[in-house]
Amino acid sequence: DMFRLDGKRILITGASSGIGAHFALVAAGAGAEVVAAARREDRLAELAERIEATGGWVRTVALDVTDAASCADALKKAGPLDILVNNAGVSNLGPAAKTDDDEWQRVIDTNLTGPFRLARDAMALNIAEGRQGVVVNVASILASRAAKSVAAYAASKAGIANLTRALALEWATKGIRVNALAPGYFDTEINEDALAGEVGDKIRRRIPMSRFGELDDLTGPFLLLASDASRFMTGSLVTVDGGQS
Ligand code: NDP
Repeated sequence: DMFRLDGKRILITGASSGIGAHFALVAAGAGAEVVAAARREDRLAELAERIEATGGWVRTVALDVTDAASCADALKKAGPLDILVNNAGVSNLGPAAKTDDDEWQRVIDTNLTGPFRLARDAMALNIAEGRQGVVVNVASILASRAAKSVAAYAASKAGIANLTRALALEWATKGIRVNALAPGYFDTEINEDALAGEVGDKIRRRIPMSRFGELDDLTGPFLLLASDASRFMTGSLVTVDGGQS
């Protein structure tokens, strides 16, 4: 089964909730050694209990992707990686005119600089040791088009999409594949405000399949990109959005 991840060490950022927690459960179920990382360690501990209850392999590590020392520490604790999943992300909702420098920087640091730093440092080790590696970045459909009131978020996601292509080219002959998922609208904590009430209904009506994404809609696409099933794919953006883009 090409989609299995048996014995592969995978670090998943933002594993304390939503999509990242789902990826951790799926990866553990596929046989991977999961290192679940995020800031909220209590949530990671709950996740680890769930994974261990099913017989899966999991470690948790505190990680703030905006902090270089925290990234270095997490990579050290995780050990050599086969797969890095840059899933941690924050959104910002609000008019551009009201987005101050700190807010802009928080979004760019979390969604773009952190993923670059982790990919660079994790895969430098693989390249130096001649080991294969896989990077899965979580972009968004807002990587290739925009929406109102999410300027920093849209810029960061376009950034990580093209970072995906740039790293893929650079590492194509070094055994490192880099791809990205581009989810549409999923009803997770990041969207608590954005998808509520009438605004949410309006967004849903614009989705051809007429519903928001469910975590399980990402299971197949995630396993595809994380596993050898995508062995001839690199620099790809896989859109999972109910037909929206
Ligand atoms: P959640 O808000 O549920 O998850 C976000 C995760 O990112 C949390 O686990 C959070 O953990 C982590 N995180 C945030 N900041 C940091 C940080 N500085 N360091 C480490 N971890 C951090 O939302 P989703 O699961 O929906 O989001 C996951 C990814 O999917 C994001 O990149 C998002 O942009 C992307 N995405 C989501 C879509 C959706 O519709 N939901 C659509 C397209 C893309 P903690 O706070 O514990 O650190």
